[in-house]
Amino acid sequence: METEGGGKMWKLRSCPKCHGDVFLEKDISGWYQRCLQCGYNRDMIPLVEVKKPVNSRKKEPVLQR
Ligand SMILES: [Zn+2]
Repeated sequence: METEGGGKMWKLRSCPKCHGDVFLEKDISGWYQRCLQCGYNRDMIPLVEVKKPVNSRKKEPVLQR
């Protein structure tokens, strides 16, 4: 099956328990991740909490062309 709705992302072998494949899914309460292999799941920390003054990935609005 292909991605439906486009709200799912995969993180391969990122389960802290069994190093299985984890998928990220968005709920009404926010993002959470769940492992397919062992059923491990936990809520994701909102991106707002991550503070990085030096960010290589900078998104700037394009105002001029
Ligand atoms: Zn696991």
